[in-house]
Amino acid sequence: MAVKSTTQRLFSRIRDRNGPNSDKVSEQVRRVLVTSLYAHPSSLAIGALATVSAAGVAAWVADLPELYVCAAVLAIIAFARLVAAFGMSPESEGNSTRKLELIYEIGAFSFALALGITAAYTILVAPETHIEVLMVANALGYGIGVSARNAGRLNIAIGQLALSCVPTALVCFWVGRPSLIALGITILLLIPAMISISGNIFTVLRNSIAAAETSANLAKRMEILARTDVVTGLANRAGLNHDMLDKKAKAPNAPFALFWIDLDRFKEVNDLLGHPVGDRVLKGVANRLLDLAPDCATVARFGGDEFIIYCEVNDIVEAQRIGSEIHAETMRPFRIDGERLEVRASVGVAMQPEHGSDADTLMQSADLALYHAKVGGRAQTCFFDSSMTRDLVRRREIEEELRVAIQRDELSIFFQPIVDLETGRIKTFEALVRWFHPEKGELKPDEFIPVAEETGVIVTLGNWITAQAARIAAKWPEDVTVAVNLSPLQIRAPGAALGVKNALREAGLDPRRLELEVTESLFIEDNHATARFIEELSEIGVRFALDDFGTGYSSLGYINSFPFSKIKVDRSFVSGAKVGKKSDAIIRAVAEMGGALGMDIVAEGLETVEQVQVVRDAGCNLGQGYYFSRAVPDYLASMLLAQERESGARQKIA
Ligand code: C2E
Ligand code: CA
Ligand code: CA
Repeated sequence: MAVKSTTQRLFSRIRDRNGPNSDKVSEQVRRVLVTSLYAHPSSLAIGALATVSAAGVAAWVADLPELYVCAAVLAIIAFARLVAAFGMSPESEGNSTRKLELIYEIGAFSFALALGITAAYTILVAPETHIEVLMVANALGYGIGVSARNAGRLNIAIGQLALSCVPTALVCFWVGRPSLIALGITILLLIPAMISISGNIFTVLRNSIAAAETSANLAKRMEILARTDVVTGLANRAGLNHDMLDKKAKAPNAPFALFWIDLDRFKEVNDLLGHPVGDRVLKGVANRLLDLAPDCATVARFGGDEFIIYCEVNDIVEAQRIGSEIHAETMRPFRIDGERLEVRASVGVAMQPEHGSDADTLMQSADLALYHAKVGGRAQTCFFDSSMTRDLVRRREIEEELRVAIQRDELSIFFQPIVDLETGRIKTFEALVRWFHPEKGELKPDEFIPVAEETGVIVTLGNWITAQAARIAAKWPEDVTVAVNLSPLQIRAPGAALGVKNALREAGLDPRRLELEVTESLFIEDNHATARFIEELSEIGVRFALDDFGTGYSSLGYINSFPFSKIKVDRSFVSGAKVGKKSDAIIRAVAEMGGALGMDIVAEGLETVEQVQVVRDAGCNLGQGYYFSRAVPDYLASMLLAQERESGARQKIA
């Protein structure tokens, strides 16, 4: 009774010292503490070996069968404990903390009790003192050692200490010899002392494990924060990288799809309505993407107005379905502060493993597909295909080399005549740029003009072309004009009109001899700069031609609102697939209107005499095409003009 109450008090003191919840450790800390019981099972083996052999020696020396039985019981328990200690892994999730603890408890308590009883019994029956000393010292040594070793689980440590030592103390008091009573008292004093020591060890252990746990939790929270986008709450770039690796590691052979979503013209939302509204739109888009994405998907914001969905898909059909849902969902108008707001997105999709087995390659593929979606007119989904890589490589090369091509003299201007269909005389030469690449050979303008437009090189290139063309045209007879193609980007660039004026001045060319060919795409965006450019140059006499008519919107509205002097009917109406009764009727209608408005109508792409006949009959007054001449270098253009004048003069003389 006395022993029990002392233990209880001691327990409560330890508890008080460690705060009210000190015996309540978190499950994680408890697991670590229980794991410590299973650490170094070799120390268990040494203890067991020492104890069992001591009992065996005692039994042999005393020649008492009961002690043999005790030694055997100790050996059996020790063996069972060692099997459990070596066999049960605390790392395995199948072994719950409670199970590990219980199994350890049963083994530890039964061994301690068996040893305690053996030692106590030896005092009663051993014929010689040194046998008593052997067993009592063993029991006490075991109790002390184990209460330090198992301090991580205080109840086990104290239980083992009590079970291994108390029987001896009780027997000492029961026998009642003064020396034994003294021993009994010593043991009873030893127990609280050891409990206090174990308690201290336990506190230090638990506190340091709890501190480690706290910092581990903190680190985990920081990690989560570092992987989250603050605006949308989605994964950010780091989070996406992490999730991609994680998902792939869990299902290495499963097919995945990566959707790279870019909001079209989101910059305008930010610029016009402000960043707070922009952020709300981003949040709205994020929520919709989260809703439509499969449950297991990672949805991330990849900077600015770009999002990524990465998920397992059964096949390309499922990926296509997700792609169309992305469009449907992003296009649904947002209501922000009572305002209706519409957003559109371009989507690039790459499939794993077909388009990239590792994350980097997959991202590159999706990025390329996205680029094609944007170039192809936005608000659409493009799936990656391998030709995109080839295109890109060539484009990159062209992009790099184009910048130096002008300085290296690799570019030149060729001229294609535009001929009067009545007289056969050259009225105009259209300037067409040519690139003679030292390795790639002759490059088509269709291949490098778009790259020049994308990279902005078109401004420098365009100014150079205009200047060259004007310089050469200045040498031609006064009634021959020159036509230069202008790309929309070049026209919208600041100082565009000034560039043309400078070219004219430096070449000394009359502005009325310059014609600028523009396409309908220029007018898709209602742009003030475009109108200013046309107005400013028209004022000084520069003329404008509407190029490739019939390939775009073919709206007659532009013809009405801008001062065009010429319409060029696209060659697809002359020699392409559109040729037939319909195209004939269209050419007729355009020619009739042109005639009424005093405009020239040019038929492009004339290759045969029959085609010349058809367009002339339809009312076109000018023609251009291989039938008359291909585009030729400037000296050949001059020769064509000289020949024409000569034969004209001969005709006159004749
Ligand atoms: P475009 O303005 O429609 O130029 C006419 C194109 O048709 C030229 O191709 C010309 O060689 C080709 N062509 C002329 N007659 C015939 C024919 O009878 N049959 C066929 N099949 N084709 C014919 P090119 O020189 O390859 O130029 C392609 C396009 O590149 C041009 O189309 C124009 O949009 C652009 N481009 C060419 N040079 C320049 C330039 O200096 N500046 C800008 N911005 N664009 C240019
Ligand atoms: Ca043209
Ligand atoms: Ca054309």
